[in-house]
Amino acid sequence: MGTIKQVESILNPPPFHWVGNGFKVHNYFPRGIHSDTRMSPFFLLDYNAKMHYPPSSEKRGVGVHPHRGLETVTIAYHGKVAHHDSAGHGGIISEGDVQWMTAGKAILHKEYHHQSYVEKGGDFQMVQLWINLPAAHKMTEPRYQEIPHSKMGKYVLNNNEGVVNVIAGSFKDIKGAAKTFTDVNLFDIRLEKGSVFTMSLKQDHNTAILVVEGSICLNEKHKAHTDQLALFENNGTDIKIESLEKSVILLMSGEPIEEPIYPYGPFLMNTKEEILQAYEDFNNGNFGYLED
Ligand code: MN
Repeated sequence: MGTIKQVESILNPPPFHWVGNGFKVHNYFPRGIHSDTRMSPFFLLDYNAKMHYPPSSEKRGVGVHPHRGLETVTIAYHGKVAHHDSAGHGGIISEGDVQWMTAGKAILHKEYHHQSYVEKGGDFQMVQLWINLPAAHKMTEPRYQEIPHSKMGKYVLNNNEGVVNVIAGSFKDIKGAAKTFTDVNLFDIRLEKGSVFTMSLKQDHNTAILVVEGSICLNEKHKAHTDQLALFENNGTDIKIESLEKSVILLMSGEPIEEPIYPYGPFLMNTKEEILQAYEDFNNGNFGYLED
């Protein structure tokens, strides 16, 4: 047993805003925590809390837009999102699935609710994370990793109290499915009521837990409920998690990238000059083509 990784704060969802007409998101960071680097290598967490859409024929989502210098990770809890990008990749992200897109030097993509879901309507709940790329890899070739639920590493907790689905990194001896550029742990954790376990993470890794469903108690004293985010101090290694009811949580923990960053719009670079270059390249059509 190591020392306890202390809870720094339990945050309520910040006010929402719409991304396109399909994603009603609470931006936990950078906006919610007022810092571009506190959760590095994670730069952005947009959380679409659970909501219900009636059946419709409307096209919902966000049209063609560029990215450079980062990875976008989309996690579907309810609903279905269809994705297409200028590198020729496409897919449908359904309940329990994850899509890990490396924008690298240039990508255009669009993200819409999948037609079959729009027609039927139903619950919708999603997370999108942006993960920074270190300077040495910002201009890497675009990459697309489809990580359906079945491809994640699975660690079954004692007495079948729950499952740690390892999206990236590793939990105990179970490895995640995603290839990453820096040390990142991303776990989709499903817990039965009354489950208790401890996980060990690196002391200096920036760490947070989003409660997607249910409620949990952390380190025997801090309760966190549906839609709240628990942010941890960068001391200690061990987090004790108890589920107060049947719960779904998302754990993110990663090695900070100790480089200056210059975020602007859909780009995440190290300097202002690189941002200006990104806009110049985009305006010159060097990001490729994607039909809207
Ligand atoms: Mn995007």
